[in-house]
Amino acid sequence: MTKDFKPAMNNPTPLTPKPCPKCGAPAELGRSGSHRFWVQCSGYLGYGNCTAIGPQTDNKKEAILKWNAMK
Ligand SMILES: [Zn+2]
Repeated sequence: MTKDFKPAMNNPTPLTPKPCPKCGAPAELGRSGSHRFWVQCSGYLGYGNCTAIGPQTDNKKEAILKWNAMK
């Protein structure tokens, strides 16, 4: 009998945004309402002069993954 079989899907790495790919400043999670998430540079326009901003997604995880995939 199998009981409580857990697939090996637990990822021990917490999902956090990498530093900005352009200037190296820390990234910040942006949010608008409950279905708009994105990650942008903490030195983004208005706070600094960096233009790095990730695509908007409908969930935090995807926003971080897309940001982390940016070069
Ligand atoms: Zn930046």
